[in-house]
Amino acid sequence: MLKIKITQTKSLKPKPKDETQLGFGKYFTDHMFLMDWDAKRGWHDARIEPYHSFQLDPCAGVFHYGQEVFEGVKAYRTKDDRILLFRPWDNAERFQKSAERMCIPPVLQSDFIDGIKALIQIDRDWIPHRFGTSLYLRPFIIATGTGFGAKASSAYRFVIIASPSGCYYENGLEPIKVYVEDKYIRTAPGLAGYAKCGGNYAASMKSMAKANQLGYDQVLWLDGIHHRYVEEAGSMNVFFLKDNVLYTAPCEGTILDGVVRRSVITLAKEQGIETKEMHIDIDDVMKDGKDGSLQECFGTSTAALIAPIGELRYHDESVVISQGRIGPVSQMLYGRLSGIQWGREEDPYHWTVEAVKK
Ligand SMILES: *Cc1c(COP(=O)(O)O)cnc(C)c1O
Repeated sequence: MLKIKITQTKSLKPKPKDETQLGFGKYFTDHMFLMDWDAKRGWHDARIEPYHSFQLDPCAGVFHYGQEVFEGVKAYRTKDDRILLFRPWDNAERFQKSAERMCIPPVLQSDFIDGIKALIQIDRDWIPHRFGTSLYLRPFIIATGTGFGAKASSAYRFVIIASPSGCYYENGLEPIKVYVEDKYIRTAPGLAGYAKCGGNYAASMKSMAKANQLGYDQVLWLDGIHHRYVEEAGSMNVFFLKDNVLYTAPCEGTILDGVVRRSVITLAKEQGIETKEMHIDIDDVMKDGKDGSLQECFGTSTAALIAPIGELRYHDESVVISQGRIGPVSQMLYGRLSGIQWGREEDPYHWTVEAVKK
């Protein structure tokens, strides 16, 4: 067990009253988890403090060279008031892989889990009650060591903050519109595509802004060499359904190995749907979209769970998928996943972990 020093706040913030208006990243809980690293002590001084701003030296590494990694985990409240985490050990493992790629000292997987559980324990009243809502936890590490040397920092801070978040589908299952980026790329073989790091996002914002300007919700990235094979969306893995087979890009170092992605592959199999992890040519996707053989398309992520894609635009062409509505397979996967996460269905894979003892 990680030893955590707890300093409780004296002034609790009011909690948002309307759970239909929580949004995403609008509210933060009363406390935060912190832990620091230096070469002499390693990771040390695990603590929970009232949520607060940091003071950092202007020449801290994170400000100049972007040495940073993060994760996203949700805590779900069940009808009988248990608090569940969904496959948090997968996030703990990925957090280490991301850190290793960014030359950041990895956090022990058990410390990652203990930090999350301790923060949930102290702020558990912030976990909303409505089906579809959750407490989103954002663990991250920043380089805090000072100096202008463009090398790995000499000090780091690991922080976990938590934000009650709304149901992605509060206004119904409205499919999103996706813009296929044909000029910029997110990553390439040898780069850090598999790491969940701020830098990947910073480099993608220009495309996201362009997509938004054109009226699209997300960007779909193509591979960095041929600009031809589908990789993933801005913050989601992407699946295509054709002839009742699911297709998705393989984890070969350029895409994020999503926890929901792997869960979808397992759940699809359970329902007799095979998934092929392979390179998918965007020209084939557009052709299948036009002739109607592309049955469904959806994104997967912890934040959105299953996001049906109703339209794809590539160059000057766009195709509408499943009449712009959510398809039966997307709906089924959403049902199974959310059922397990909110403790309403059997969890045959032991994916959920109780976050706090009652
Ligand atoms: C976080 C993330 C995902 C989704 O991963 P999950 O573990 O399913 O939440 C997909 N792509 C990118 C780029 C991401 O950052």
